[in-house]
Amino acid sequence: MEPEDEQMTAKRLKNIGVSQTLAISGRAKEMREKEGIDVIDFSLGQPDFNTPDAIKEAGKRAIDENFTRYTQAAGVPELQEAVVQKLQRENGVSYRPENVIISSGAKHSLFNACMALINCGDKVIVPSPYWLSYPPMVYLSSGEPELVQTREEDGFLLTPKALKEAISKHKPRALFLNNPSNPTGMMYSRDQLEKLAEIVVDSKVWVIADEIYEKMVYDGEFVCFASLNNEVRSRTITINGCSKAYSMTGWRVGFAAGPDDIIADMKKIQSQTTSSICSISQKAAIEALAGDQTVVSEMVAEFRKRRDFVVTRLRKVPEVECLMPDGAFYAFPNVTAYYDRLPGLKGDDEKKEKLGSVLLSKHLLENAQVAVVPGIAFGAGDNIRISYATSMEELERGLDKIEKALVEL
Ligand code: PLP
Repeated sequence: MEPEDEQMTAKRLKNIGVSQTLAISGRAKEMREKEGIDVIDFSLGQPDFNTPDAIKEAGKRAIDENFTRYTQAAGVPELQEAVVQKLQRENGVSYRPENVIISSGAKHSLFNACMALINCGDKVIVPSPYWLSYPPMVYLSSGEPELVQTREEDGFLLTPKALKEAISKHKPRALFLNNPSNPTGMMYSRDQLEKLAEIVVDSKVWVIADEIYEKMVYDGEFVCFASLNNEVRSRTITINGCSKAYSMTGWRVGFAAGPDDIIADMKKIQSQTTSSICSISQKAAIEALAGDQTVVSEMVAEFRKRRDFVVTRLRKVPEVECLMPDGAFYAFPNVTAYYDRLPGLKGDDEKKEKLGSVLLSKHLLENAQVAVVPGIAFGAGDNIRISYATSMEELERGLDKIEKALVEL
């Protein structure tokens, strides 16, 4: 072996780092627990509500009834059926239970979809800003992510023109479509989705439609991409799960629905790697999807109040600009006005793009004791991500501190 071949780990890992959102909340936790600092955490992407009681009871019942063994690798038929019913009832799209796979979170479904779809060297379009796990998932499945920059003035949405250009340039195998979006919170209208759909159908591109935030919507109507028409459905893998809508992040329940061949391959991958998800979580997920949905609307009403407060408050901070997100639970303010005041950045646009959001987030953690995520982690160096999945009191206190730390810069 030549000396340069003697690397310790596989080459496919060379572009992969640890998730930066987890790294920041880890540092915030360390400051809180080891250093006794009162850190306000706006970095995490999980609802602060408890899992609703009926869902917890279903999980407890599963344990008491000894439903604690391996299940079918793709999930128990009753849960596949509950997903089929949910997709029909709420999203107006028809699948058969065989077209559904239950995975350990939407993240696992997304990864299985990449492994099933992407050949070595295949290009995959990732509209930017993007959820930060998409590019690593493409790399891990030996593909090449092609970031397509969206613009803040377009609400960070992919335009038909940009999609057409990216398709003709890269000849991609697939496109990620995250709607509503993490980190921007923006959502596509039916009309906008139809225009994108026409292009992907014409150019035979696969769509990995990540709809995990579908229920957290405050303005407008959520439209499931696969529901547009049968042609679109035959090119789409719909990804969703229980983490956000039912505050079940730790239970690890996600699912994918799609055409026969792709889902069959995703099942093969899952059966040879992780097997089924936790049996107890599956029983809880059946209750979540098929049970009373009142808890979801209560949670969404609370998120709407917080969104309105956070965006209004951010817009009062001098020189901060913030779009009004339609959904999810993130605000994504533009904070570039402050970058000239950060050490070593004045007048250097390249450095500002790369380091501005990181240094500003560091400044906020150290001087305001507030943890936010630098936008560059999502491919957007002008912004920071503020999660409002925390109490109103924390939001009020944290935003006051952010304003103070910014104007003192
Ligand atoms: N997709 C997006 C856009 C997300 O923000 C997240 C979680 O943060 C996931 C998928 C993963 O969710 P799950 O907990 O179901 O794996």
